[in-house]
Amino acid sequence: MYQAFLIKYAEIGVKGKNRHLFEDALVHQIVRSLRPVEGSFAVTKEMGRIYVQAEGDFDYEGALEAMQHVFGIAGICPVVIVEDTEFEDLARAAVDYVRMVYPEGRNRTFKIFARRSNKSYPKDSMQLNADLGEAVLYGCPWMKVDVHNPDVVLTVEVRQKIYLYSETIPGPGGMPVGSSGSAMLLLSGGIDSPVAGYMTAKRGVQIDAVYFHAPPYTSERAKQKVIDLAEIVSRYSGQIRLHIVNFTDIQLAIYEKCPHEELTIIMRRYMMKIAERFAEKDGAKALITGESIGQVASQTIDSLVCTNAVCTMPVFRPLIGFDKQEIVDVSTRIGSYETSILPYEDCCTIFVAKHPVTHPILKIVERSEKKLQGIIEPLVETAVDTAETVIVGDL
Ligand code: ATP
Ligand code: MG
Repeated sequence: MYQAFLIKYAEIGVKGKNRHLFEDALVHQIVRSLRPVEGSFAVTKEMGRIYVQAEGDFDYEGALEAMQHVFGIAGICPVVIVEDTEFEDLARAAVDYVRMVYPEGRNRTFKIFARRSNKSYPKDSMQLNADLGEAVLYGCPWMKVDVHNPDVVLTVEVRQKIYLYSETIPGPGGMPVGSSGSAMLLLSGGIDSPVAGYMTAKRGVQIDAVYFHAPPYTSERAKQKVIDLAEIVSRYSGQIRLHIVNFTDIQLAIYEKCPHEELTIIMRRYMMKIAERFAEKDGAKALITGESIGQVASQTIDSLVCTNAVCTMPVFRPLIGFDKQEIVDVSTRIGSYETSILPYEDCCTIFVAKHPVTHPILKIVERSEKKLQGIIEPLVETAVDTAETVIVGDL
């Protein structure tokens, strides 16, 4: 029954002169999301709106589902297109629409909201409101008019063809990816970092990712799990370049030379440094982590101070004020939870101390790191040079 969708967008409507950049990014993301969906679609910008029009048969549910992953979409309105624009045909189509979408059995109130952008149409919008309202009242006696607070607003847009719609299916909101630069996500196999990546992408940021593994202490399955997580996030964010860094020798060196209660914090600092190297390579301007204050010893404010001190780029921590349950809720909603909870080992947990410092002091940590001088630098270079890059998702 539906042949098109009208895309409603929220925030990008207020971007003034840059508005077309946001709209172009949104069109691009919609096209990307629909590529794997059965059918052929034309996505067009017309007078401050975006229409997705299907050519011939298409997978309606699949198209909706795909577009519900596109940031920047506030709502998706399935549209019926009336090709024959004679008033009689339009009236019949409006009645058929109401019968189909709001069948008899439940009394509802409605109003017609007509907009005539094709000024050569013989009836103006006021006349259309009145005449179509009458046709619907007559054809669907269970519907009543209420112009102030109707249950149903049937919009009738008169252009070269006529578009009918009344339903809005919510989109994910946010801003289209590609409209706000890019950032480098530190992606582990846990619950938090995929959510952090999702939330940053939701603000229009394109993301790439770094994962640190420690073979043979961590397995191929653990690595595959992170690739799978990147793929899940990429359904929303578009393509992710995932850099997989062999961190084993660095971890062993830290383990050998530094106080064990500082292992996690020092390791974290090296992760940040290396992540910055990949950010520079990919043109990303910030880092993203899944940290949340107080969640574990390495996420107290003192620990975050120590970790942050090695970074020259801003570090985005979108989950900083989230409780674990709130993170789990988002993770469940976006579809990463089931993968995140698979029980594969993480490189950080293998070398953890029994009693990690919870309130590390930067000066002391830096002094401990001095013991790595001369050993660690070539290991870092090797780790950067030998990283494997896996590309997930579509551009
Ligand atoms: P997550 O669920 O994201 O793994 P977590 O609660 O396990 O988080 P930590 O292990 O302390 O917390 O990690 C904090 C953050 O550091 C992670 O959210 C992630 O951004 C980054 N991180 C941790 N381990 C790795 C790793 N092996 N590779 C890449 N990033 C990592
Ligand atoms: Mg973790």
